[in-house]
Amino acid sequence: MANESNQVAADKVVSIHYRLTSDEGKVIDRSGDEPLDYLHGHENIVPGLERQIHGKNEGDKFEAVVPPEEGYGKRVEDAQKELPREAFPDDAPLEPGAQFAAQGPDGNLIPLWVLKVDDEQVLVDLNHPLAGETLKFEVEVVSVREATAEEKEHGHVHGEGDAHA
Ligand code: ZN
Repeated sequence: MANESNQVAADKVVSIHYRLTSDEGKVIDRSGDEPLDYLHGHENIVPGLERQIHGKNEGDKFEAVVPPEEGYGKRVEDAQKELPREAFPDDAPLEPGAQFAAQGPDGNLIPLWVLKVDDEQVLVDLNHPLAGETLKFEVEVVSVREATAEEKEHGHVHGEGDAHA
């Protein structure tokens, strides 16, 4: 029987090494030298990955295949728009791949990604660049610890000496 304190569950801080590859086997993202720390059960990572890590134990290595619906969503057609450059702040880093949030009519923030920039126009896409992709994660659970009361309250991990309001 596994030691319960080393098992991934809600409100645990989980450290993982991971490698994310696309359908075509291209490496899209990976953890660096240090593992990624996240607070489990608070939607800090894509839902499908969080679901599949749930219940795993420290030291476990596994592959998680995440369909678009549990990853970055399905690709929406006709989601590209040309916006005037003036719609962006002067110091905005306008380059392909940059992410912005636009205020929607009901006040909520709509994420969008820059595809192309010229002197006057910025072509943006409402799809996340990984929308429509089946994500393949190779995951190693490096460590699992109890979250602090403050981390639980904030819904995210605090690094060492991390203090903020
Ligand atoms: Zn915080």
